[in-house]
Amino acid sequence: MKISDIFKKRQSFSFEVFPPKAEQSMEPLKKTLAELYKFQPDFISCTYGAGGTNKGRSSELCEIIEKDGQHAMTHFTCIGNTRQDIIEAIQEYRDLGVENVLALRGDIPHGLDGTNGDFSNANQLLEFLRENFPDLCLGAACYPEKHMEADSLDTDIHYLKLKQEAGADFLMTQLCHDVEAYERFLETIRAQGIHLPVVVGLMPALSKDSIIRMSLSNGCSIPRELAEIIGKYGDTPEDFKKAGKEYTAKQILRYRQAAINGLHIYSLNKYADIVDILQAAGIDK
Ligand code: FAD
Repeated sequence: MKISDIFKKRQSFSFEVFPPKAEQSMEPLKKTLAELYKFQPDFISCTYGAGGTNKGRSSELCEIIEKDGQHAMTHFTCIGNTRQDIIEAIQEYRDLGVENVLALRGDIPHGLDGTNGDFSNANQLLEFLRENFPDLCLGAACYPEKHMEADSLDTDIHYLKLKQEAGADFLMTQLCHDVEAYERFLETIRAQGIHLPVVVGLMPALSKDSIIRMSLSNGCSIPRELAEIIGKYGDTPEDFKKAGKEYTAKQILRYRQAAINGLHIYSLNKYADIVDILQAAGIDK
């Protein structure tokens, strides 16, 4: 199933999971997946280590999801990959039944000044995949508050348009707590001729440290409402989690009212907290 087919009918609903480390068991994640499937997600995305680290586990995870009768989307980066590596890796995913790929550059590893592969940016990877795998559904990343390396949002949007021209089928946002910033971004890209459907990625606020770390490392602003939760409950993890789950449920409702084509929940490989959040947002199994 191609993700792009869903948007013609309705908003998509999906989860992100990440593969366990090489030495860790897949069993806890299988249990999480079983619980997430109860919400009838349109697809489950599997992250990919930037340098292809742990890539065997990414494909193993996609295989499990496809064998469970669900639809997987693999994330994939250009870092360290030649054209031949890309053909082989993507063909392997295709052979497992995966029809959706989120095509990324990846974060440049420390000590390198480029991708160390045949492509420097995601638009080149997209163009190559579109040419070699014409039947794949291709997603691309977008940044409502701009990518950390970009000089300005305008420059970043200029490059975003190249992803559309290279054959991307849809966009998926980086985490963005500020729904109004997302709406401004959407208005701007539409005015610039970017018409691709946009899926919004939402990270649950379950731990003070991780929400601060993720926000800072992605250049994502922390709105006053979330800052107040951090200030009030930051020293008591259980209280923070309770307030953070309520906040995340509200964010889901806000985003669902905004002009989005899909909602993608970072499951963080947990299910009990995700179930609480979804139920509080009125999303039933
Ligand atoms: P690009 O589109 O190449 O952009 C990178 C920078 O270069 C930007 O500043 C952009 O403005 C600029 N730029 C773009 N095109 C050009 C061009 N042609 N010429 C010059 N400059 C250009 N990382 C992982 O390692 N694994 C994952 O699983 C993963 N999943 C992600 C999922 C989502 C939804 C998002 C939003 C990000 C994800 N990332 C992941 C992080 C991503 O790899 C980083 O944000 C990375 O730094 C940029 O990737 P990109 O595909 O946006 O790159």
